Amino acid sequence: MTLQTESIVELPDGTSYRQPVGLFISGEFTTAQGQLSLDTVNPYTGTIICSVARGRSDDIDAAVSAAQSASKGWKDTPPRQRGQLLQTLAQLMRRDADLLAKIEAVDAGKPVHIAKEADVLAAAACVQYYAGWADKIKGDTLETDPKTLNLTVREPVGVCGLIIPWNFPILMVGWKMAPALASGNTVVLKPAELTPLSALYVGKLVQEAGFPPGVVNIVTGFGAEAGAALVAHPGVNKISFTGSTPVGKGILSASADSSLKRITLELGGKSPSVIFNDADLDEVVEWVNGGIFYNMGQNCCAGSRIYVQEDVYEAFLEKFIRRVEKNVMGDPFHEKTFLGPQISAAQHAKIMGMIENARTQGAVLAKGGESPHGWFIEPTVFRDVRQDMDIMREEVFGPVVAVASFKDASDALAKVHDTCYGLAAAVFTSDLKQGLGMAKSIKAGTIWVNCYNMITHELPFGGCRESGVGKDLGEDVLSEFTNTKSIRIML
Ligand code: ADP
Repeated sequence: MTLQTESIVELPDGTSYRQPVGLFISGEFTTAQGQLSLDTVNPYTGTIICSVARGRSDDIDAAVSAAQSASKGWKDTPPRQRGQLLQTLAQLMRRDADLLAKIEAVDAGKPVHIAKEADVLAAAACVQYYAGWADKIKGDTLETDPKTLNLTVREPVGVCGLIIPWNFPILMVGWKMAPALASGNTVVLKPAELTPLSALYVGKLVQEAGFPPGVVNIVTGFGAEAGAALVAHPGVNKISFTGSTPVGKGILSASADSSLKRITLELGGKSPSVIFNDADLDEVVEWVNGGIFYNMGQNCCAGSRIYVQEDVYEAFLEKFIRRVEKNVMGDPFHEKTFLGPQISAAQHAKIMGMIENARTQGAVLAKGGESPHGWFIEPTVFRDVRQDMDIMREEVFGPVVAVASFKDASDALAKVHDTCYGLAAAVFTSDLKQGLGMAKSIKAGTIWVNCYNMITHELPFGGCRESGVGKDLGEDVLSEFTNTKSIRIML
């Protein structure tokens, strides 16, 4: 079989497009050195969309070496010019937003209208934001004594390995690649094996935008092959990873065992929503419904635990269940669809197993719990869930929420903190003092008051405890992608 670097993909709406399927190294698409490929599957139909190159350690070597060769030239490129290239890339992503949304819909099972706004256009906006940062990264001067002049300069880290997950494929390309490039690094991007298509398409746009060869390299492949090789490579200076907590922990130790890379980890969560008795329950159910069921629950900051003050517990549940029943599940290409399928047979089986286990442990099923067909899972609500039940403790990464009641703020805080995670949390109350007090007390990277999932690229995002290390987004991520050098000059 002759492997190709491009495939014609037929889309469900009757259109077709040219999908790059090779590795993107040194500005060109090429086949994998082992001449291997991997299939990517449409989670709605369970059928193969196309095959992409299966990169392994020899391909990672080639990509890292391309990134190393491009490193000096890119670091020395005037920041304003780096910003202009990113600006062009953002424009091209916007130009092709309809197609990119369809790619995310077939490859990840996302509803196409949601994918366009929340994934593709949000990614383009993020790239544009860091285009603006490129020429604003600066050091300091510090006064110590009359005989010296002291300054700090911020320098790119070098070659950055960016390992991204399947739940927000193109959005994570934007979140990680844009700040890395703006601050003068070259990158090797490793998309998730389940959703490689949009990242490869972005490679084509990187080519069209005119980035110098080797500044951006993309190696598709399996985590244990391409991903692990990238983490172990001595020529890589930093890894920025988004994915599961167990893999993140492995990356931290693999980095220590190799060349002690700088590491950013954005990992799992079990994020709580706390609903006080003075909250507007009609508004609350909208937020918490989106909080857990958005992206089929496949969201690191999914609001998978809901704590409700005991005197409004039943009233909340009644309204919440009614709201949950209105979620439209179905074909990602239908305009009204809110919930598509889960990403894969393996995820589907894992989540159904967790639902079964919750029932066995005595959690009360208030809604859903079934798989109607294929990889679909009904939005599922368990009520009266105890703190010691697995469904209250373990990340499901699916459309399943555990609900329980609390007495007062201190009881709520104890329950909120009874977890190993610290990614996000939400508080719903009409008493701003109460909201701010909780926001200050809760140990998590992001706290939403009277809203949920309101992520924006201006604000840093990333957790504490087993939810991760370091930050994506905002100004903060620029320190993740730069080293500070101190210079003292004797006068
Ligand atoms: P999920 O459970 O969401 O699939 P993973 O953490 O398994 O999350 O995957 C997130 C990303 O990490 C994917 O790109 C995957 O290929 C990659 N990955 C998985 N295992 C490893 C590994 N051992 N080393 C490096 N990357 C890995």
